[in-house]
Amino acid sequence: MSKRILLTGGAGFIGSHTYVSLVEGGYEAVILDDFSNSSPGVLDRLRVITGRAVPCIRGSIQDRALVCRVLRDENISAVVQFAAFKAVGESVAQPLRYYDNNVGGMIGLLQSMNDAGCRNLIFSSSATVYGEPESVPIAESARRSINSPYGHTKLIIEDMLGALHQSDPRWAIGTLRYFNPVGAHPSGLIGEHPRDIPNNLMPYVTQVALGQREYLSIFGADYDTPDGTGVRDYIHIQDLANGHLFALKAILEKAASFVVNLGTGVGYSVLDLVRNFEAANDVAVPYRIVARRPGDIASCFADPRLANTLLGWQAKLGLRDMCTDAWRWQQHNPRGYDAT
Ligand code: UDP
Repeated sequence: MSKRILLTGGAGFIGSHTYVSLVEGGYEAVILDDFSNSSPGVLDRLRVITGRAVPCIRGSIQDRALVCRVLRDENISAVVQFAAFKAVGESVAQPLRYYDNNVGGMIGLLQSMNDAGCRNLIFSSSATVYGEPESVPIAESARRSINSPYGHTKLIIEDMLGALHQSDPRWAIGTLRYFNPVGAHPSGLIGEHPRDIPNNLMPYVTQVALGQREYLSIFGADYDTPDGTGVRDYIHIQDLANGHLFALKAILEKAASFVVNLGTGVGYSVLDLVRNFEAANDVAVPYRIVARRPGDIASCFADPRLANTLLGWQAKLGLRDMCTDAWRWQQHNPRGYDAT
């Protein structure tokens, strides 16, 4: 019988793509989501892609009784935890909301898992824990630093998980530090749909290309990078989702615990991304150079070798796939899941 995996926050951008990867990889996946930053409309799309019913429970990871019941009743072998807030700027404005939801939510989830005797976990961390890196590419051993309450929540949780594993070796915990996930499932049925003005580059670019926004503001062209714009490690969401499948196998089959980067190892600038998007999709993305965004760094890309050594995973898709898949999703779903 295939193992059952709980995806907390599984209706979101990364969670929904991971759901597909896990089902295609032979697991039975169950979603728990409170839909605070996602849409139930994704569930029907997941049913179409996977060709089977999508088990989903509406609820919060803070609801310990519910989580315990789900873990036991559904006979869950591992949890992949995505349920967290992720907007850096918002976390600066509303730090307590972030600490409560991200750190408080995680503590509740871990207690429920412990009570239910389910101690296999994949945690969504982020390259944000590296703060302003001393050098690139960034290996997992690099110094961590904080540049926002959001980043601090990831750092606190990483440390908490380390302590938990130390205290009780029955815990198998895979921590995945994501770089910049972009793109969409090649079907165009699921993708990223920010509720408000997009904070991230790719959804902003796709909305400009569609004419929903007039132009892209490029936040600074005076960084110490080849063309002056910020350099990031964009990773196709399909590759990132697949990384979870490899990580899950490692914790379930080898009881491994690890902290690994999920990135491509290649850095592209904002202008690289815009030009590749225009060329790949034959569409214009008007832009203006504006002031730097507070808190942004010049360059951030991964040394992805550890994930390959430990998990046998590596990113396969390039910037062109990221651009064409993001564009297909945006064109087919100009208003996301709800209004199409
Ligand atoms: N960026 C930009 N305009 C936007 C959004 C982002 O120029 O509207 C730049 C940003 O300054 C950074 C890169 O795009 O250099 C990636 O930003 P994003 O917010 O997507 O990711 P992160 O800052 O978390 O790496």
